[in-house]
Amino acid sequence: MRLSRYFLPVLKETPSEAQIVSHRYMLRAGMIKQAQAGIYSWLPLGFKVLKRIEQIVHEEQERAGHIPLLMPTLQSADLWRESGRYDDYGEEMLRITDRHGRDMLYGPTNEELITDIFRSHVSSYKDLPLTLYHIQWKFRDEVRPRFGVMRGREFLMKDGYNFDLTKEAALHAYNRHLVSYLRTYERMGLQAIPMRADSGPIGGDDTHEFLVLADTGESEVFYDSAVTDLTFGDRAIDYDSVEECAGIMREFTEKYARTDETHDEAKFNEIPEERRRVARGIEVGQIFYFGTKYSEAMGATVQGPDGKPTPVHMGSHGIGVSRLLGAIIEASHDDKGIIWPEGVTPFHVGIVNLKQGDAEADGACEGLETALINAGLDPLYDDRKERAGGKFATMDLIGLPWRITVGPRGLKNGVVELTSRRTGESEEMAPEAAVARLV
Ligand code: ATP
Ligand code: MG
Ligand code: MG
Ligand code: MG
Repeated sequence: MRLSRYFLPVLKETPSEAQIVSHRYMLRAGMIKQAQAGIYSWLPLGFKVLKRIEQIVHEEQERAGHIPLLMPTLQSADLWRESGRYDDYGEEMLRITDRHGRDMLYGPTNEELITDIFRSHVSSYKDLPLTLYHIQWKFRDEVRPRFGVMRGREFLMKDGYNFDLTKEAALHAYNRHLVSYLRTYERMGLQAIPMRADSGPIGGDDTHEFLVLADTGESEVFYDSAVTDLTFGDRAIDYDSVEECAGIMREFTEKYARTDETHDEAKFNEIPEERRRVARGIEVGQIFYFGTKYSEAMGATVQGPDGKPTPVHMGSHGIGVSRLLGAIIEASHDDKGIIWPEGVTPFHVGIVNLKQGDAEADGACEGLETALINAGLDPLYDDRKERAGGKFATMDLIGLPWRITVGPRGLKNGVVELTSRRTGESEEMAPEAAVARLV
């Protein structure tokens, strides 16, 4: 992409309404524009990152054997009356009436809708286990939408639902989700710690939230610092293996890590004092096992091996896809701007031409651009007639992990400069060597 032809409405001034760094940088880098309180348009750069995050979520869900579909944003109130949640959900639910006077709502979550799909099409235990998920917009009329996409009213969520014959099978699905989430967040360059949590309006016994530690997080968390040493890495995992998934579950949850709702001071004090941590975190996901709560209320039964109808055991599992952009920036930035982890960066590398209009510099940049594209990378070439300082500031703000700087002086010696956004270190090398380094 050539910056002169792109749409990147960078702001010079720091927007006064933004209280936290991720919100400020997302506005300044031209990633989002507020349409109404808690509702955003995703401008090209923000949209690109959102899509990359979605892609990682899809890949990891499919790797775990979960099946994508797409349910609508608008739902019928009648379904929610069946589960009893239509009245319970309260003012966070946006209620709408159509021209025929039928009550509808903009979905804040999808347990009812997915249970309805399940009960219409699945009738035998032989069709289990089954986990279906989608990535779809949600609406919750939050009292205090704030911090940009972190607490929006309209936001993008991955929500998945497992259907199993027994509690044991459903707990395997729970563990499978935990493992797939660990992999998902790590691929985004994030450490998200599973913490024992409270189930809230979804209901249920077993639940963990995934928290990214950050001073600006809205949750208070208590944990043993040893949990921050755990990483999943690139371990091979057999998602069908009950033991393997349970083993990872134990490894990542046996140490104390809880949100304030389930915090237990006595248990916390059993941790050696130097390892006790009280901090703040951003909730980027949550997994639930809630048994037969919805299947019983809504008649989602299958014929069991004994021929008798049995309500299925269910769980639901969510990832805050749009919130993740904010969480990643909170965890990875400096005073010049965003520092994207490689896994989610909107462009892999920026090319800065120090002397636009100089035939040699222009030619070298175009050559680099082509070579990078041919190598399967997605470069952003700043080909504007601007001062070098302005071009560097834009690249630093939008946070691409690598920058290649091209100027007549270097080219005389046959070199360009490759700079890492994270370390700030630069190295001179031949253009071909820079491309080879990035592939
Ligand atoms: P919170 O405690 O932040 O209000 P929640 O517990 O109500 O979130 P869940 O029902 O667990 O949210 O939804 C799954 C995920 O969706 C959350 O873990 C979070 O990452 C994301 N999410 C929830 N509400 C919002 C929101 N208003 N804006 C952006 N993302 C959200
Ligand atoms: Mg909430
Ligand atoms: Mg919560
Ligand atoms: Mg939650």
